Amino acid sequence: MLFGLVTHSAASAADFSHLTQASVEFRGAVKQYGEHRVLNGINLTINAGEVVAILGPSGSGKSTLIRLINQLEPLTDGDILIDNRPTRGLKGRVLRELRSRVGFVFQQFNLYAHLTALQNITLALEYVHGWKTDAAKVRALELLEQVGLSDKADHQPAQLSGGQQQRVAIARALASSPQIILFDEPTSALDPEMIGEVLSVMKSLAHSGITMIVVTHEMQFAREIADRVVFIDGGDVLEIAAPADFFSRPQHPRAQRFLQKVL
Ligand code: ADP
Ligand code: MG
Repeated sequence: MLFGLVTHSAASAADFSHLTQASVEFRGAVKQYGEHRVLNGINLTINAGEVVAILGPSGSGKSTLIRLINQLEPLTDGDILIDNRPTRGLKGRVLRELRSRVGFVFQQFNLYAHLTALQNITLALEYVHGWKTDAAKVRALELLEQVGLSDKADHQPAQLSGGQQQRVAIARALASSPQIILFDEPTSALDPEMIGEVLSVMKSLAHSGITMIVVTHEMQFAREIADRVVFIDGGDVLEIAAPADFFSRPQHPRAQRFLQKVL
């Protein structure tokens, strides 16, 4: 296993193999696509083990914000500290290590269509993290059980419902035992009757120790499980509050308008 090869003495400021406190700190994080600035210098600290819901209108920069954390998109300026370690511009082995500590769940599941549920989970364990086939299989079966899909290990995505596919995707995101898991509207592509099963798996993860950042339009879910709500609009964080306060007494006029529309 890759991490086993990294000795303690080799741990440096930019080494994520011994990540313990999975806090995420945005420091003046700017993202531009060409001339178009979509995040205007975000300052935001998410504590280790915290569950944070990111809310905001479509196009406000929510996906971009979380995609910056594991560098699915590169930062334009500023930095993002994970466990107090700067991450901007990381490359190669250290970036791969960082990504293995940060799971990502996409709106459209992004499973490999030609692989089974089991293979979708073992693939990265074997080929990225260097696990032996048998160990990867054991781990994948354990995760499938955790998301209630033990009996679907040999099914391909097309043979699974949307809710089941998203649960496989969550299992895959958890395979390398990340300290942080990011969700980008994980239930937005699902038929209404399948939303509950996915939220229920997410609820079981919340406050289990993993740091959880969830972009969502499920307001009831955010209210129930988030420690804090972060409201963003136009590429700025406009409000950070406990859900009870945010949903009953939003302070920023744009947060008030947003809630009037969605509640
Ligand atoms: P949200 O997730 O809140 O809907 P996004 O983070 O997806 O918002 O997008 C924020 C802004 O950035 C939008 O104006 C969007 O059009 C723009 N954007 C997102 N991704 C890209 C990209 N790859 N290239 C150019 N513009 C992008
Ligand atoms: Mg989005």
